Amino acid sequence: MTAPYRDRLSRAAQAAADAGIDALLVAPGADLRYLVGYDALPLERLTCLVVPATGNPFLVVPGLEQHAAEVSGATDHVSLSTHGETDDAFQLLAEQLNDALGRTPRSVGVADRMWAQQVLRFRDVLGGAEQCLAGDVLRPLRLRKLPDEISSLRAAGSAIDRVHAQMGEWLRPGRTEAEVARDIADAILAEGHASVNFTIVGSGPNGASPHHHVSNRVIEAGDPVVIDIGGTMPDGYCSDCTRTYVAGDKAPGDFAAYYDVLLAAQLAAVAHVRPGVTAHSVDAAARDVIDNGGYGDLFIHRTGHGIGLEEHEEPWIVAGSEVVLEPGMCFSIEPGIYASGKHGARIEDIVVVTDDGVERLDTIDRDLVVLAG
Ligand code: ZN
Ligand code: ZN
Ligand code: ZN
Repeated sequence: MTAPYRDRLSRAAQAAADAGIDALLVAPGADLRYLVGYDALPLERLTCLVVPATGNPFLVVPGLEQHAAEVSGATDHVSLSTHGETDDAFQLLAEQLNDALGRTPRSVGVADRMWAQQVLRFRDVLGGAEQCLAGDVLRPLRLRKLPDEISSLRAAGSAIDRVHAQMGEWLRPGRTEAEVARDIADAILAEGHASVNFTIVGSGPNGASPHHHVSNRVIEAGDPVVIDIGGTMPDGYCSDCTRTYVAGDKAPGDFAAYYDVLLAAQLAAVAHVRPGVTAHSVDAAARDVIDNGGYGDLFIHRTGHGIGLEEHEEPWIVAGSEVVLEPGMCFSIEPGIYASGKHGARIEDIVVVTDDGVERLDTIDRDLVVLAG
């Protein structure tokens, strides 16, 4: 894979120019990693990539971060400018930006998650330049994944599928959710992730809370257990996959009934994905099946979220969204049914919109698995 960063930087500069923004100021986070491959620490000392609409981008880092910035490879694509402990980094950046533009900027896009302290300092030193969100410019780029990003997400999906495939080794009656989650976390790393993002183990009534994490509840025979897990691969791309299991015994009858409806809903939503349809209609494809099955009140969240360098990013697969799907968009399809006080179920796959349909990046079996006690 050739480094895609030059291309991303020039597309970002062009997008800024098209939007009438003089420069993008990109703080540590997914945008910075997307543009130059630098997974920088967000610290009180200023690290900031400057992408002028015209001219050369440059990366401002504290002197003590110079080595890290170089090792990341970012300096293959942008020039580096360091500041010492007593320098005014914001002032230095402003002077460099003025030089690059040949004038003071009239407007700058600040990274969506730049610290407010830094946003306000930039307002002071950039001579009253109007500030807007860099995300408005960068989002359309990050929303449509190119083939190199899709293969990264495909590798992430395979890695988390391999973790699910081993669930029978850990998920057993008599163990606590926390014990199972620790084993899952080890496996997430062993299967190639660089970090663990979350290990949701929702057994019995805890499965009815979509964002339940783990507890010391002891899993009982016959408990449905929602397992929603994900991590970040070494190249920054994320995995996120949910399966619902039954531990040790037959599923309760009411659970088995709604699991079938849920599975049908998930399959219908995935089958609906193709270029040209709205995110709203994908949500509706899942929701209609659950409504018709009589469980509409128990499907209490949107159908999915985009994924890439962030676990949750746009597009949101939610009622009312007029976002029209395009090839390269990657997102989850994760309807759920939650029977409060009893149990719940969710089935989640990451999918990518192809030129004429959809590809699933998680392919492990979706039928209800009863794990032997
Ligand atoms: Zn979530
Ligand atoms: Zn998930
Ligand atoms: Zn998800």
